[in-house]
Amino acid sequence: MVFLQQHIIAPLRDFIFPPVCLTCTTLLENNKLRICPVCWESFTPVTASHPVWIELKSKFETGGVVRDIFSRFLFEKEGKLQEVIHLLKYQSMKSIGVLLGSELGTRLKSIPLFSTADFLVPIPLHKLKRRERGYNQSEYICKGISEEMGIPVNSSLIERKKYTQSQTKLNMRERMENVGDAFSINPKYESMANGKTFILVDDVITTGSTINACAAELLAHKAKSILAVSVALAE
Ligand SMILES: [Zn+2]
Repeated sequence: MVFLQQHIIAPLRDFIFPPVCLTCTTLLENNKLRICPVCWESFTPVTASHPVWIELKSKFETGGVVRDIFSRFLFEKEGKLQEVIHLLKYQSMKSIGVLLGSELGTRLKSIPLFSTADFLVPIPLHKLKRRERGYNQSEYICKGISEEMGIPVNSSLIERKKYTQSQTKLNMRERMENVGDAFSINPKYESMANGKTFILVDDVITTGSTINACAAELLAHKAKSILAVSVALAE
């Protein structure tokens, strides 16, 4: 079967459906990449010296629950990255999540604070939303990070118990109230948080209120430290 897949099925599939960039439809040489180098280069990188990063980090420091953050790109409205994240979240393009995760993982493994963490935890969706979408996009980002760093993914530890309304139209204060007690630790795994360092993973971090609520729940169950990682930071 492996032979069939590698030598007959895959070339035949590529002949009938040549691999193209998901955002600009340029032909791709490598089917696994999904995004062409030109589109990839068009994403705006973000670093720790960017004002959005600094603001979020200081907000987390004030909150006292998230120790450090890492993100890779700036989330710009109408930008190509928005299109890519949209495909990941709403069009079942799960392999994009793995690709973006592995991009994060290659960078995170050289940062000691992150490379020594115990678990990757995708920000959970409420079970109704998960059922509706069929998957949690952050789990695929975690998969990509995990493949690079060798840190296990724990998707069962935290549950989202509140079906929160979309946060996009809410201000900071409303978002905090919206997610305030939205997460709870799964009683089956309660003792697992004790003394562990977790990396919470989301596709885009906007105000950080979701991450904060999730982190607070883990710390309430004696987690040692919480780090936050996202593909992008929203301006
Ligand atoms: Zn492209």
